[in-house]
Amino acid sequence: MKIMLDAGHYGAYNRSPADKRYYESKQMWLLHKKVGEELKKRGYSVGYTRTDINTDLEVTKRGKKAKGYDAFLSFHSNAVGGGKTNDTVDYPKVYYSLTNTPEGGKWALNLSQAIAKTMGTRQEGKKATKVGDKGLDYLGVLRGARAVGCPNAYLIEHSFHTNTAATRWLMEDKNLNQLAISEADAIDNLFHRVPEKVQYYAVPVGYTGNSISQALKLIAEDNSLSNRKIIGKANNIEGIGTAPGNTRMLNLLKKGKLIKPPVIAK
Ligand SMILES: [Zn+2]
Repeated sequence: MKIMLDAGHYGAYNRSPADKRYYESKQMWLLHKKVGEELKKRGYSVGYTRTDINTDLEVTKRGKKAKGYDAFLSFHSNAVGGGKTNDTVDYPKVYYSLTNTPEGGKWALNLSQAIAKTMGTRQEGKKATKVGDKGLDYLGVLRGARAVGCPNAYLIEHSFHTNTAATRWLMEDKNLNQLAISEADAIDNLFHRVPEKVQYYAVPVGYTGNSISQALKLIAEDNSLSNRKIIGKANNIEGIGTAPGNTRMLNLLKKGKLIKPPVIAK
């Protein structure tokens, strides 16, 4: 397993208004190196998008360094709009690529919750996606990582450097060590998670028609096109909503071989 790590900024960038000693670029550089060391201890091969903190590289190009890697993680701390100190907003957020594996959102949330727990943030960890032009990821690093086929691309906001408590917490080296351990453990758990048992839909007994929509209704499953697309994805069926796709899904359902999509944490 190979993981590419990216410090979100270079040089001395994004100074905290809450504590002027803090720069997002510097603390996230330290953190991404520590996470790398922890991942190596767990048997991963680790790459970094840059060799030193004073080197810049355009965001999409950084994402593209994930070519041949199993995961890409970009390290950041967040700021509220306007960039002024705000001591009430305090939560990590993990952005995941729109084209990650179906479990991308679940992974993002797991990672975010692990960070929230270790940092002791006021609010819970969140996950998010951000859509940009042409329906692609808005975030350049994620776009780049996906462009080279990396299946798991994330951008992690380690709470807010506009929050005094979070900023001070991230300034302590011992806290970064602890955070590196919990992030590496979370990533490791995601890669070595126990696969969920495959479950199949019930057979619509006695149904002899040729409508997947009616057949799903018979077994009390949501038969909307959007839900059928989710089911289609779980079963690798192309062309949901067209005759061939619908027929393929109906045939699997009648045979009791239509897989229920894994439950993605909301
Ligand atoms: Zn940033």
